[in-house]
Amino acid sequence: MQTPTTLYFDHAATTPLRPEAHAAMRPYLEERFANASSLYGAAREARKGIEEAREQVAASVGARPEEIVFTGSGTEADNLALKGAAWHAREQGRDGVVVSAVEHHAVLDTARWLKRQGFRVTEVRVDARGVVRLEELARAVDARTALVSVMWANNEVGTIEPVRECARIAREAGALVHSDAVQALPWLDVDASGVDLLSLSAHKLGGPKGVGALVVRRGVKLQPLLHGGGQERELRSGTYNVAGIAGFGAAVAATLSARPESSGRVRALRDRFEALLLESLGGVRVNGHPVERLPNSLNVCIDGVEGETLILMLDGAGVAASSGSACTSGSTEPSHVLLAMGLPKGIALGSLRLTLGDETTEADVDAAAARVVEAVRKLRR
Ligand code: PLP
Repeated sequence: MQTPTTLYFDHAATTPLRPEAHAAMRPYLEERFANASSLYGAAREARKGIEEAREQVAASVGARPEEIVFTGSGTEADNLALKGAAWHAREQGRDGVVVSAVEHHAVLDTARWLKRQGFRVTEVRVDARGVVRLEELARAVDARTALVSVMWANNEVGTIEPVRECARIAREAGALVHSDAVQALPWLDVDASGVDLLSLSAHKLGGPKGVGALVVRRGVKLQPLLHGGGQERELRSGTYNVAGIAGFGAAVAATLSARPESSGRVRALRDRFEALLLESLGGVRVNGHPVERLPNSLNVCIDGVEGETLILMLDGAGVAASSGSACTSGSTEPSHVLLAMGLPKGIALGSLRLTLGDETTEADVDAAAARVVEAVRKLRR
C-alpha cells in the first residue's frame, strides 16, 4: 500500500529548518569551527557569528543584546528563570513562586521541584478559555513573592495570556515577572520591556533544535544553573553552540520579516480548517480563547473519539498531528491544560491539536481536514 504524503500539522512541536537558518549555520559546522571563547582570529570569527545572532534575537523582542543569555533549549531558559530567580531571591528573604496552572511542564515541573526544596509555590487557576484568573493571581502574590511566571501564549490551546496585567500585579509587590514566549514569538509581537525574564526557543520558528535564550533584563540577578567556563556573563557556562546560535539569529530575523504577511494568511487557513471540521462532524468543541489565540493553533475535542487513537489513525493516513494527552506508564493521561480549563477527563482525552506553519497551504488544509473527518467517522462506526 502506498503511504499518503505526510501533511505536517504539528508546528507547535517543532518546525522545519528555514533555509536562512541552514545557510547561517553551515560555515560554523565546516570551516569556522573554532571555539568562540579562544583568542585567535578564527575564534573571533566564531564570536562574530554569536554576537550578530545576539543582536537579531534581542531586536526581535525589543531587548538589548547584552540582555540575551543563550541556552541549550527553551526548557533550560525556563529552568534558569525559575530556579535562578528563586535561589537568588531566597537570599533576600523572598520564597514565593506563583505560576499559572497551564504552563508548559518546563515551568510547572520546575515550580513543583522548587516546592519540594521549600519554596511556597502557588498554581493559579484559569477560566474555561485558558486565561489566567487575575483576581486569583493578585491574591497569590504578596511581599514575599520572588517570581510570577505566566506564559505569553499556551502551547496546547493557543490562548494568549494577559502578561501585562500579570506583570503589573507582580511589580506592585516587588516580585520579578517571567514569561515563556516560546510559542508566541513565531506569531506575535513580543515586547520584553514589560517583563524581567523571557524564554525563547529556536526550533519553534524555523531554527535548529537545542538552542534557546533567556532574556534577562538589566539589573535582574539570577543564580546560574551551570558553573564552569563562565560564558554568558557567568550565567550559562559551556562551550558555545556557534552554529545553533547563528541559526537561531537567522531564523528569528526571517520570522520577523515574514510575520506581518504570514500571520493573517495562516489565521485564515486555521479558521478554514476549524470551519471544515465543524461543518462535517457533529460533537466537535473548539478549545482555547475564541479570539485571543495564536493564529496557527487549532485544538478540538471530538466526542466519541480517543485522542491517541485518532493520532495513530491520522499517522496512517499521512497527517502528523498531536493530542494534548500524554502516555505515561502505560495509561493515557489527559492534558493538564484542558483539565485546568474545567473539561471533564473523558472529554479532555478526545483532544486533537493541529498547528499550522508558514509553509502550510490551502490544499494541505483541505486534504488534512478530509482525512480527519474520514478517520473520525471510521472510529465512530
Ligand atoms: N515552553 C513552551 C511553551 C513550549 O511549547 C516548549 C516546547 O514544546 C518549551 C517551553 C520547551 O522548549 P524546548 O523544546 O526548546 O526545550
